[in-house]
Amino acid sequence: MKCPKCNETMYAKRIRENEINFCPSCKGAWLDKGELALTLGTVGDLHSSSEPKSEKITQYVSCPACPGVLRRTYYSSDQRIVVEKCDDCNGIFVDRGEITKIKEFNK
Ligand SMILES: [Zn+2]
Ligand SMILES: [Zn+2]
Repeated sequence: MKCPKCNETMYAKRIRENEINFCPSCKGAWLDKGELALTLGTVGDLHSSSEPKSEKITQYVSCPACPGVLRRTYYSSDQRIVVEKCDDCNGIFVDRGEITKIKEFNK
């Protein structure tokens, strides 16, 4: 699997029962559907209904797992955390800094 951001080959790491793909270059992580919740211990689903509106989407990033494209989606209702989600396979790409924020968010 290639990183959707920098096209680097990602490596898989086993966390609990899941395999997460990490990018050695940008330190982002790719999570298949449902893995984010299990790995980071979230309480609910993504707030996909509240899409970023003020932000202009300048580029589409293609999904590393399917032919779909990733769309910026708010993870938290206070809109502090933004992830990139594929509407087709429901996979999620999380930037390095966002993973930390998500962990703090779920404390
Ligand atoms: Zn990368
Ligand atoms: Zn996809």
